[in-house]
Amino acid sequence: MLIGGFQKFSLIDYPEKICAIVFTQGCNFRCGYCHNPELVKPEKFEIPISEKDFFSFLNKRQKKLDAVVITGGEPTLQKDLIPFVKKIKSMGYLIKLDSNGSDSEVLKNIFDLKIIDYIAMDIKAPLKGYFKIINTDIDTKNIKKSIKQIMNSKINYEFRTTVVKDQLFLDDFEKIGKLIKSAELYVLQKFIPTKTNDLKFLKKQTYSDKEFENIKKIMQKYVQKCIVR
Ligand code: SF4
Repeated sequence: MLIGGFQKFSLIDYPEKICAIVFTQGCNFRCGYCHNPELVKPEKFEIPISEKDFFSFLNKRQKKLDAVVITGGEPTLQKDLIPFVKKIKSMGYLIKLDSNGSDSEVLKNIFDLKIIDYIAMDIKAPLKGYFKIINTDIDTKNIKKSIKQIMNSKINYEFRTTVVKDQLFLDDFEKIGKLIKSAELYVLQKFIPTKTNDLKFLKKQTYSDKEFENIKKIMQKYVQKCIVR
């Protein structure tokens, strides 16, 4: 595993649990708004943290932490993700995986093995609008497959979209709604320009609270629950 970093404690990254977060290096997308460029662009990678150090930390925190969140970057790119997840699971931790959903095969294997407890998948845009957000060519059939698998997995999940005002418009949310129709939870994430993959995004904005209420109304036609974060 290429571990770019870990956060020892968080109360907000796993629903209602105390967790640690491990960040993997490398991503196959190039979202302009990404706030983790040091985990995405190889030239910005730091020397990876050793798995030994990470597991020794987890050993010491058993019974103090409930869960581990595996995020990135894109964790499904890591060749040894499954043994890594199994090892964390065997220590008694709940596991949440964050993914961009581009590798439906890896996700299927993980669901079959029943080794994670929660998954959060990004929905970048309606399928036809993916390229303009992620700036790379992918087969969006895999995104559709991942959505279906997640909804059939019986694992707790959320779909989520980071919203930059000039990237997604009201009719895009109608299309996203159709794509994830009947989903249990959909999260609208306000884009906050702190650091970004593409520096132009530092000047971009998200919608106002009132505008988010309108987007939420659209999404509530399609999903069971929609929140703004
Ligand atoms: S936002 Fe997520 S999917 Fe996009 S480049 Fe960053 S880590 Fe990759």
